[in-house]
Amino acid sequence: MALKKKGDWWHAATAVDLDQFLLRHVLGRHCRGVPHRVAHARCAACSAAKFDLFTDEGERVLRVCTACEAEHWVCNLDGKGDPDSAGEIVCTCMYSECEVAVGFALMDPPEGGTEEDGPVGHLYVAGRCTECGLCGVYSEWGPDGDFTFPELAASV
Ligand SMILES: [Zn+2]
Ligand SMILES: [Zn+2]
Repeated sequence: MALKKKGDWWHAATAVDLDQFLLRHVLGRHCRGVPHRVAHARCAACSAAKFDLFTDEGERVLRVCTACEAEHWVCNLDGKGDPDSAGEIVCTCMYSECEVAVGFALMDPPEGGTEEDGPVGHLYVAGRCTECGLCGVYSEWGPDGDFTFPELAASV
């Protein structure tokens, strides 16, 4: 078990532990009875997996690669991110870099379809601080429109 609770907070040893954090402690508590999926963020430009995170007033998340500074709005297929209102997230340890994974709650698939053919009803953007290991959900929203898990997972 690499996921440990310290006080009110979960801490993880590696980015892989974000799966358990999201599936058990976030999706498992808030989105019961529907299929769940997790996808991890990786920079499209340099394939690093550590980011500074910014949230805007609409709670959308901009991730900035700490290796190459490439910017990407997380799961922003409905195009709602607002760079002018984006503010940086800082961990309780005052460090800002984190590894990022997104948890998805899938809704009813179309007749004859598989679980992943259904639209994503809600998603949670989680980060694991690379300094202290603290895991947190830094934003959540329901996509505006019907997007499937494979579509959104490609945009994590
Ligand atoms: Zn990069
Ligand atoms: Zn930290």
